Amino acid sequence: MAESAEVIVVGMGPGGEDAAGKLAEAGLDVLGIEANLVGGECPYWGCVPSKMMIRAANLLAEARRIPGMAGASTVTPDWAPVAKRIREEATDFWNDKIAVDRFTGKGGRFLRGRARVVGRRSVEVDGVEYEATRALVIATGTEPAIPAIDGLAGTPYWTNHDAIEAETLPRSVAVLGGGAVGLELAQVFARFGVEVTVIEAADRLLPMEEPEASAVAAAALTREASQFTSVRARRASHTSRHADSPSHSAKPAR
Ligand SMILES: Cc1cc2nc3c(=O)[nH]c(=O)nc-3n(C[C@H](O)[C@H](O)[C@H](O)COP(=O)(O)OP(=O)(O)OC[C@H]3O[C@@H](n4cnc5c(N)ncnc54)[C@H](O)[C@@H]3O)c2cc1C
Repeated sequence: MAESAEVIVVGMGPGGEDAAGKLAEAGLDVLGIEANLVGGECPYWGCVPSKMMIRAANLLAEARRIPGMAGASTVTPDWAPVAKRIREEATDFWNDKIAVDRFTGKGGRFLRGRARVVGRRSVEVDGVEYEATRALVIATGTEPAIPAIDGLAGTPYWTNHDAIEAETLPRSVAVLGGGAVGLELAQVFARFGVEVTVIEAADRLLPMEEPEASAVAAAALTREASQFTSVRARRASHTSRHADSPSHSAKPAR
């Protein structure tokens, strides 16, 4: 017989965690199921660590502006303290104990595992079926989209997970996609001395935003990275010539 809960929430990223927590606080019997880390992309591979990276990169950019304005400065970028802060302060070494406790503290039940929907209101996790008597909430978010580019599969490319987890930086990177996430990572790496090339298929950077925003971003980035718009990457190849080339897994982490 299937185990049951009033509400089952599949995916405990910012969306699922919030919904599950509020429903549990309201007194419902809620089962939250998460395949990876409670909190999802944002605190571990997205918003929070990337803003820590941006803060550090902005410090470098600001320090480089001292000459001619406020004296002299010598700037020597070092990625090590950024990687350390991401590990120790932002992500707790990619450990979600605090987030799990926060949810169970609200009265929710937590199950770690990958759920598969097997009925109108039921899911299966590791061979066990769970049925929701009132509602099944699907909050599984998104995964990195790996474009169908010839040769990419055999290349040790980075997704956002690899970029955020990096302990050392490569000598150069090509960033596929000039949207908000691509540009913020591009600018961070450029400010830390990485040779960055941004490739965007649309005719402007930030194609989802107003054209004025694209113009501002393009002008700002000109000083820091090469950028190509209206260009679609067709082939990718890789040599292991550089000892500092990306060492992380080429696979999306989930
Ligand atoms: C580098 C970067 C920077 C970003 N910066 C910002 C920012 O500054 N501000 C901002 O607002 N947003 C930012 N975002 C976007 C933000 O991270 C996402 O919008 C947010 O995480 C989406 O939340 P979600 O709950 O919908 O999905 P997710 O965070 O993707 O969570 C979904 C969860 O579902 C789980 N899951 C999936 N399938 C299953 C299954 N079958 N069974 C169980 N669990 C499953 C996953 O493991 C995951 O934990 C950034 C993203 C990136 C990559």
